[in-house]
Amino acid sequence: MPVATELTIALAKGRILDETLPLLARAGIEPVDDLASSRKLVFATSNKDIKLVLIRSADVATYVQYGAADLGVAGKDVLLEHGGEGLYERLDLKIAPCRMMTAGPAGKTLPRGRLKVATKYPGITRQFFLDQGRQVELIKLYGSMELAPVVGLADIIVDLVDTGSTLKANGLAPLDHIMDISSRLIINRASLKMKNRPIRELVDRIENALKRP
Ligand code: AMP
Repeated sequence: MPVATELTIALAKGRILDETLPLLARAGIEPVDDLASSRKLVFATSNKDIKLVLIRSADVATYVQYGAADLGVAGKDVLLEHGGEGLYERLDLKIAPCRMMTAGPAGKTLPRGRLKVATKYPGITRQFFLDQGRQVELIKLYGSMELAPVVGLADIIVDLVDTGSTLKANGLAPLDHIMDISSRLIINRASLKMKNRPIRELVDRIENALKRP
């Protein structure tokens, strides 16, 4: 039986892709098409055994979990929400660094008692308030969390903060720093066994590329 050597890497459009492509290029892997302008979802690369698939960031861990992609680049936020089943977190790529924070209306005292917290990150949020011993009502949103306190849907939000300008533009101020977030290289557990050698070689190349920016 031929040894399986083809590898699929799952990437997400946006910030992560913009920073991952130069890193992959330094590791010798370059897509043959321009990813930003193409509507395709599967891309061949300069390495005939490696292809890229472009999906939503929240789906990267799921693709890698089920082996639809052997490797992926996903934010720590996505990995924590996903739970990490079926995959290894192998490298901190230090890509798209930001902070997971609580934030509320600037200069306003928070109500006592049960807070209403709007977030796209219910797992991280639940754990944070559990550790604090504080009961909260979670309101799951899929985006534009900053709007929730402005229109009275929630008292505070839990979201990713980079420069803080999105919070500020919506009259919000950062409160608690929950954790630092950055993107990680993840690997499907079964792939790592079945395709151990090509995966190890690829990870070595990415690790070396990380050391020489
Ligand atoms: P900023 O205004 O620079 O603080 O960025 C905050 C906005 O960008 C929020 O809408 C965040 O959800 C989003 N954001 C910030 N950093 C990241 C990241 N590393 N990955 C994904 N979204 C991010």
